[in-house]
Amino acid sequence: MSDRVRCNCRRCIIRSLMGPAIIITVGVLFLLDQVRGGYLSFGNTFPVILIVIGAISLASNLASTEGHINGPVPAAPPVAAASSPQNPQGPVQGQ
Ligand SMILES: [Zn+2]
Repeated sequence: MSDRVRCNCRRCIIRSLMGPAIIITVGVLFLLDQVRGGYLSFGNTFPVILIVIGAISLASNLASTEGHINGPVPAAPPVAAASSPQNPQGPVQGQ
């Protein structure tokens, strides 16, 4: 988690809250389903998830991008990570 380059502009911060907000919303809706039931069952309250997704998307699109980091992610080259001393992948091995 710490090796990822994170942008600290408002748009990216709000967008990063999307996943936790959806999980919390689904949890609350299932809790309401278990406690109350009836017309608060999950089958009736699931559109709240869409409302939460739309509200967060709207807020992130309206937020400022001041200080946004739009660079490529500095990932390790996959060729260097794939080769290991026990399994060399060089094309010339003298067979
Ligand atoms: Zn950003």
